[in-house]
Amino acid sequence: MSARTVLPLVTAVTAVVVLATGCTSTKNTGSGGSGVALVKEGKLTTCTHLPYEPFQFRKDNKVVGFDVDIVDLVAKELGVTQEIVDTPFEGIQTGEDLNAGKCDLAAAGMTITAVREQNLDFSGPYFDATQALIAKKGSPYTSLASLKGKKLGVQQGTTGETYAKKNGAGVETVQFEDVALLLTAVKTGQVDAGINDNGVLFEYVRKNADTAVTAEFDTGEKYGIGVKTGNTALRQEIDKAVKAARADGRYDAIYKKWFPAAPKKQ
Ligand code: GLN
Repeated sequence: MSARTVLPLVTAVTAVVVLATGCTSTKNTGSGGSGVALVKEGKLTTCTHLPYEPFQFRKDNKVVGFDVDIVDLVAKELGVTQEIVDTPFEGIQTGEDLNAGKCDLAAAGMTITAVREQNLDFSGPYFDATQALIAKKGSPYTSLASLKGKKLGVQQGTTGETYAKKNGAGVETVQFEDVALLLTAVKTGQVDAGINDNGVLFEYVRKNADTAVTAEFDTGEKYGIGVKTGNTALRQEIDKAVKAARADGRYDAIYKKWFPAAPKKQ
């Protein structure tokens, strides 16, 4: 049973607490009793791009993952339930979906970058990541230099694509709309290697023994949850929820649940 199954009960309890402390809010639309304006009454609507395992992916007809659990912490605090909208990463990272009111927040394993900061506001960092290379097991592609004249799969609009284009002189990049297509292309030999975030690649390799993570690049990325520019009330609620969860062990529990093999927590 996942945390989401027990949510309605927990939410009911949280709602009372939120109402009791909600008087400090500056704005109240009645959307969740918290003073945070929500695009859909009673819901915290999340934009994400599936699949991005283990951050968000479908399992038994439900969307689950690390990011889902993190946003559930915020929903719980607001006394509402999370609703997830699956939408292309491009509209997420450009702030378009947030501006259009498609969702309240974007949780998509999304790296905080200066360019994105111009188009949306980020919560504080909630996860560390770095770019990595994936290839068939035993392959000689252990660096971008080794891929000169070879095909490197990249995911459209991501920091991995930017890194590969900037640092992979002479490497032929092949663009994929999502990470599942990219990983299948690596596995089937359609491309020689792929670049993406380490957490996602290590999860894939764990389940696909014929592939390996052959390099990690120290890009020092941090994931943030996106809100519409100026939505300070929601941004602060996210930070508050993550901070509380880090302090009382809930963050660690979520981390262990999705990264059971990780040597240390981030
Ligand atoms: N962290 C990467 C980025 O922000 C990949 C995100 C994703 O594909 N969901 O570009």
